[in-house]
Amino acid sequence: MDPVGVADAGPGPAWQSKCPWGAPNTTSISCSLADVMSEQLAKELQLEEENAAFPEVVAVAEGPFITGENIDTSSDLMLAQMLQMEFDREYDAQLRREEKKINGDSKVSISFENYRKVHPYDSDSSEDEVDWQDTRHDPYRADKPTTTPRKGFIGKGKDITTKHDEVVCGRKNTARMENFAPEFQVGDGIGMDLKLSNQVFNALKQHAYSEERRSARLHEKKEHSTAEKAVDPKTRLLLYKMVNAGMLETITGCISTGKESVVFHAYGGKSATEDKVIPPECAIKVFKTTLNEFKNRDKYIKDDYRFKDRFSKLNPRKIIRMWAEKEMHNLTRMQNAGIPCPQVVILKKHVLVMSFIGQDQIPAPKLKDVTLSSEDMKKAYYQILDMMQQLYKECNLVHADLSEYNMLWHDGKVWLIDVSQSVEPTHPHGLEFLFRDCRNVSQFFQKGGVTEALNERELFNAVSGLNITADNEVDFQAEIEALEKMNEDHVQNHGKKLSMFSSDGDPPIYDE
Ligand code: ADP
Ligand code: MN
Repeated sequence: MDPVGVADAGPGPAWQSKCPWGAPNTTSISCSLADVMSEQLAKELQLEEENAAFPEVVAVAEGPFITGENIDTSSDLMLAQMLQMEFDREYDAQLRREEKKINGDSKVSISFENYRKVHPYDSDSSEDEVDWQDTRHDPYRADKPTTTPRKGFIGKGKDITTKHDEVVCGRKNTARMENFAPEFQVGDGIGMDLKLSNQVFNALKQHAYSEERRSARLHEKKEHSTAEKAVDPKTRLLLYKMVNAGMLETITGCISTGKESVVFHAYGGKSATEDKVIPPECAIKVFKTTLNEFKNRDKYIKDDYRFKDRFSKLNPRKIIRMWAEKEMHNLTRMQNAGIPCPQVVILKKHVLVMSFIGQDQIPAPKLKDVTLSSEDMKKAYYQILDMMQQLYKECNLVHADLSEYNMLWHDGKVWLIDVSQSVEPTHPHGLEFLFRDCRNVSQFFQKGGVTEALNERELFNAVSGLNITADNEVDFQAEIEALEKMNEDHVQNHGKKLSMFSSDGDPPIYDE
């Protein structure tokens, strides 16, 4: 065994005769299970790594150093270095002992790390990441920008496959298998004194990782599916209170589960106040507090230094309530303008109760799911044109997610829903959103055979009252963006919007 781990710089026969101390008495150190588990071995392995971290010293000395069979004392420099190294190590070992003594079992511990002589190494760190030495491609890097701390058996595992003795390394690899996920069965490799080659070890490690990730995915899926059906306890309590207060008669079931919300149907109850009438059927839109999307994203964002500040300022619960509140305000504006849309009943935190569009628990079909006669189709088109203009001019709003998915066909007319993301036209991207809405609408009706349907650019001008003349999509889009920019600058410089945007509508609710 070569405890130094620099066997590849092996000694030539010439120096051996020069060695004043002759050959050491132990040529190899046996390695049993007890050894593998022992602190002594762990220390030795740490020493190896320390040495590995000092290639330049090795280079200067032109050969291996430290005790063992490879002793070159031909140079004073090297001797000095060896002594220094030995001293530093002892010093560090002493530091470690003191550190341990001071910290004991205390949860808060102090570290003498900075006082160590032999750097860089990290004996207490649980990070034990193996470099993917056999492959340049690290399949997990994209998902794991930082290394995951794992409970390490011994020190830091850099360079394990390159510089070390095959046997030690093999045993080390076997021992390291213990670091794989707890569910991953590794057997008693240590007890059998199994020596894994680096290649096999890396392959196993990679396999263990993918297993871990696979089971995590499965678990998440399971959690997701239950989360979609039910709501979290806090939301359940909110709903229960509404029923208990008599505001809702019964909650019958779920009509829709989306990425950001779950919608339930309920029969309305009695209002506590006389001036407010609760509709016979209600839709309850629960904005998801456990946004899986969001949670998934957070783990990638929060460690990214670019987002660190911003991320820490965001409070997911607040953001979600804000969406619910926005939907309420927007629906109220639309209601006041006489646009067919759900009527707000009540908002409680992230739960919005509104009138149900549909009958006897059956929600009105979305425009995309209903087959209309060509007459109704034409009627629907003109109604939407009208609604878009009203929305823009009277409500000072752009729907921003307008499509056949968010329009319901009920009672022989179109109803607009899903307005939590709606913005005012002066939103920095408001006009772009409007253009997208126009594209969806005109494409749907043109495909649906409404020959009178304006194209998206004509529709945009008809709704906004702007007069953008570009006759192709790219130029049109560019003009829209230029207008947005102009307005932004104007707001910056004069503290108010351009006159073309001035409206008598409500003051802005949220300025994103
Ligand atoms: P999201 O698309 O963000 O999940 P929506 O507001 O579009 O949320 O609601 C999802 C679905 O729930 C709608 O497509 C519609 O089928 C149904 N729904 C929502 N609100 C109502 C309502 N007031 N009446 C009847 N059905 C509704
Ligand atoms: Mn929707």
